[in-house]
Amino acid sequence: MDYHAIVKQFKVESLYGRYLTVADIEPKLKEWESGNQLKVEGYSVEGRRIYSFTIGHGKTKILIWSQMHGNESTTTKAVMDLLLFLKSGVVEASSFLNHFTLLVIPILNPDGAKAYTRENANRIDLNRDAQDLSQPESQILRRTFERFQPHYCYNMHDQRTIFGAGESGKPATVSFLAPAYNAERDYNATRLKAVSVIIAMNIALQEIIPNQVGRFDDAFNLNCVGDTFQALGVPTILFEAGHFQEDYQREHTRQFIFVALLSGLQAIYENVIVNNKIEDYLRIPQNKVVFYDIVYKNVKINYDGNIKRTNFAIQFKETLFENEVLFVAYFAEIGSLEAYHGHYEYDAEDAIYSDNDDNIPKVNKKADFNLNNSINVVNGFPNHKKV
Ligand SMILES: [Zn+2]
Repeated sequence: MDYHAIVKQFKVESLYGRYLTVADIEPKLKEWESGNQLKVEGYSVEGRRIYSFTIGHGKTKILIWSQMHGNESTTTKAVMDLLLFLKSGVVEASSFLNHFTLLVIPILNPDGAKAYTRENANRIDLNRDAQDLSQPESQILRRTFERFQPHYCYNMHDQRTIFGAGESGKPATVSFLAPAYNAERDYNATRLKAVSVIIAMNIALQEIIPNQVGRFDDAFNLNCVGDTFQALGVPTILFEAGHFQEDYQREHTRQFIFVALLSGLQAIYENVIVNNKIEDYLRIPQNKVVFYDIVYKNVKINYDGNIKRTNFAIQFKETLFENEVLFVAYFAEIGSLEAYHGHYEYDAEDAIYSDNDDNIPKVNKKADFNLNNSINVVNGFPNHKKV
């Protein structure tokens, strides 16, 4: 299967960038609907619709949910692209539809999506509510899981820009996890099935983003949905869409997630996963916190007449403004920053730092400043560059 060609050909063009709500996906889902594919599974705290879209008539059932964290939209774009492909009637799509039945919940947390928050409208993290089931959104997911009785579950998220893939010096553009089902983090037959699919997806991704795939931390927490479903005997895979170079809108990462979805389905379809070895999973480097968005090196700062050379790091905070996500740059750390990389790095070459405040960079202060009074840095970048 030519993943590259499929990903190029099938893209829902109306979905773009980081801010994605139910109102954005609704027209597409309605357009694609034929027969009882589209269903309102229930309503969010604020009464927004939580849709599912079921496609295929095969024996192997996969439950996919995305955007349970409202501000994590990249995987939603990818699953919508997957649906577009599956609806297309091309040969590869038809063979998937004969083999699989997919039940997709593209946005599980529509209130969080609207407000661009991780939590739902009651400020509950739905991925810590798997045991309490205190929220309507959590109850809907659990009810759907019990009704559908999937053979696999895909739990789809975004991760922050801070993660690298082990010691590679590269960002963790896609990370996976087969969540633990017990505190000992043992591997049983269920978890090993999830591991096998991840190995297949990693092989496909290494072709296009070498050394940019990571393995997420497997600390056990039964309040997390993945851990609970794994413990209930259904192989569950956590997807984390992360940073790719120059791609803060995550339009490239969206394509890599699509490739992961296709290659995972292909591996299950061909039943090659039975040959996969856990060592190949454990060789995927673990996610490591090694990145800041921007790093400046060799800046001179005047502390009351005492001039010191230092480095500092800047991190973006994502802010929703008029239906767009703005990336606002703040100082995050000042110091040697040993072992950290920046997605953007600048050597200030001993230029003197100044700003409109007290001429000292401080954590949580906005990153607007001057270097040598000649270079004007606005929102973290010199020369009016923007993400
Ligand atoms: Zn998440």
